[in-house]
Amino acid sequence: MTAVASARLILTRLHEVMASRSQPQRKLDQVVEIIGESLDSEVCSIYLLRDGALELFATRGLNPDAVHVTRLGVGEGLVGTIAANVEMLNLAEAAAHPDFAYRPETGEDRFHSFAGVPIIHRARAIGALVVQHVDPRRYEDVEIEALQTTAMVLSELIAHAGLADDEQALASDGGPMILPGLTLVKGLASGVAVSHQPRITIDQVVAEDIEAERQRVYRAFDKMRDQIEAMANQAEFGKGGEHDEVLETYKMFAYDEGWGRRINEAIDSGLTAEAAIERVQQRTRMRMRQIDDPLLADRMHDLEDLSNRLLRIVSGQLATAATQGLKRDTILIARNLGPAELLEYDRRRLKGVVLQEGSLTAHVVIVARAMGIPVLGRCEGVLRHVADGDELLLDADKGTVTLRPSQAMAEVFDARFAKSRERQAAYATMREVEPFTRCGTRIQVMINAGLRDDISMLSMTGADGVGLFRTEFQFLVSATLPQRERQTRLYRDVLDAAEGKPVVFRTVDIGGDKAVPYLTSEALEREENPAMGWRALRLALDREGLLKAQARSLLEASAGRGLNVMFPMVSEPWEFDAAKAVFEDQLAFLKSRRKQLPEAIRYGAMLEVPALAEVLEQMVERVSFLSVGTNDLTQFLFAADRANPKLAERYDWLSPAILRFLDRVAKGLVGTPVDLGVCGEMGGRRLEALALLGIGYRRLSITPAAVGPIKELIRKVDLEEISAAMSGWLRHPPLSLRAALSEWAEARGIESD
Ligand code: PEP
Ligand code: MG
Repeated sequence: MTAVASARLILTRLHEVMASRSQPQRKLDQVVEIIGESLDSEVCSIYLLRDGALELFATRGLNPDAVHVTRLGVGEGLVGTIAANVEMLNLAEAAAHPDFAYRPETGEDRFHSFAGVPIIHRARAIGALVVQHVDPRRYEDVEIEALQTTAMVLSELIAHAGLADDEQALASDGGPMILPGLTLVKGLASGVAVSHQPRITIDQVVAEDIEAERQRVYRAFDKMRDQIEAMANQAEFGKGGEHDEVLETYKMFAYDEGWGRRINEAIDSGLTAEAAIERVQQRTRMRMRQIDDPLLADRMHDLEDLSNRLLRIVSGQLATAATQGLKRDTILIARNLGPAELLEYDRRRLKGVVLQEGSLTAHVVIVARAMGIPVLGRCEGVLRHVADGDELLLDADKGTVTLRPSQAMAEVFDARFAKSRERQAAYATMREVEPFTRCGTRIQVMINAGLRDDISMLSMTGADGVGLFRTEFQFLVSATLPQRERQTRLYRDVLDAAEGKPVVFRTVDIGGDKAVPYLTSEALEREENPAMGWRALRLALDREGLLKAQARSLLEASAGRGLNVMFPMVSEPWEFDAAKAVFEDQLAFLKSRRKQLPEAIRYGAMLEVPALAEVLEQMVERVSFLSVGTNDLTQFLFAADRANPKLAERYDWLSPAILRFLDRVAKGLVGTPVDLGVCGEMGGRRLEALALLGIGYRRLSITPAAVGPIKELIRKVDLEEISAAMSGWLRHPPLSLRAALSEWAEARGIESD
């Protein structure tokens, strides 16, 4: 029998049981028989959440005396883990799982393999459906899908019969709680919790008329495509730049035949249109968890966004939290959010976002950053613990969200919030102030950027230009390799927006951990040490077509004006020569075509591989400028992966090792025409910036939010004084250079942070 046919058979049998007049308990007993039989599984059990614990409600194969006796807490044992994570488990050897908890009364010790799926109602797990087998084997995808479909059918029955704890009981006990997460966009916010999750209730899972269901899906697809086209014409979404990339991805999915086909297959197996969309969505989620590549996973989240949209259209339940309108200052809660969904919210009321999933490279994060909305991601348990209307304090600087804060917690937060706002306001007044030191030296303060929208920060901060434009952002947010025309358009827009201020374009730094899915299978191969792998200029020189296209785009975009090009990860001088040659070739080509050329081209390199510092004199002859990338440089100096959270705080930028290194580089360039700067995160922190000024750095390219604080610092510094102090400390390092510097600063009325 084909998978579709057997799925349909299971569904028909389940439908008969559901339609019968039996008591709910009897129905559950029948369901475990049907599933056990169909999946040829010795055990099939249903656990339901009652009074806060998962109770064995029905079983085929386990000891019947354990029914209504065996109870597991949420998070306890495999069943509790399924419910806590709202995630399926598929294990060949159950006892080998760290969360396995043996319950003797069930007699389950004979069974080795185990698969279970959550029974979900309104985005929360209200139970679990489990199968077990004597032989150790992993259940196949089609079997897991059959379990998930059954769980959907059961969810309907359980909710109607009131067998499990309802939403109120599931929500928290009402006390304060602090949940940690990963900072995706920094900032502070407070407001009431609003679930984004469009509470779509699927009233009917089993189709009465398959053809009619198919037509409903077709119509919904048409409508959804119309909506996306309309979105493209909306001023906000269709502005170009990175939003264009998002839209391209959306279109790609909206017209993706594979997606439509899978939904059709699910309808063939006997599901209604709603249930079929949900079914396919669950499968996508399942796959998503197995994908290791964060970029690909992000694109799958975009698909989930569209899937929700389709479900809303087909079910006629169009209202989302966005369309219902936000009544008060709001912190939005969601498993994940698509960028288009975020843009539907009223910006005046939307103060922050907390996601159970989410990643730094997700489209929604890029859009949120442009909108200035703090986002906390990877906040486990947020969907479970937060109820709509709860007061929330979001501290995306520290990476926490506080639920239902006590009065004292709220006061502490308010004070912090007020101080941060005050500071922001004070720094904003620094916009017109030029960063001269107390002794009268003009320091160059520039910003790091990667998106077109970031350029507006130039006028908002009064920075001197863009010291690092990370061109790879366009590649990272794009579903396909950005074509030359698109690159040219972006670079031209950036230069236009910069209004004559210099912009240093860094050629793509992709590869390694920033793998882009479309860049051939080579790039997708897992590398042992991606940061030290085939990335940045290494990749660009091997894939000359890529660099050529970028060179041409940059040259054409800067026709009639100045162009600053910087190559990342230069490790030996010949790499710089080779990269420059690609640009010069393109320049010659444009010249031969009598195209307008850039007025002047300055070539520079990032100094982020320590080896380059050993051949500095060879670089001096070649480059107009050098920019120290302290993010990478320090990871290589300390052999400490910059992405590893366990090492994040281990080594200090203010260590004599780093500062002596940077000092040597600066001294090596004294008297040469090479323009030296720093463009790593280090330059945006006050004490670190102070140290850099003390060892001779006069150009800092930093995150826009740091421009105000760094300018304010510069105005208080006397360079002679700090360089004397620094050279003393570097000759004879104190126990803690940070402590010494901080004390030194404090004595001069310079705040450390
Ligand atoms: C650096 O390495 O310091 C740098 C600025 O580049 P990125 O952070 O993009 O690697
Ligand atoms: Mg770098």
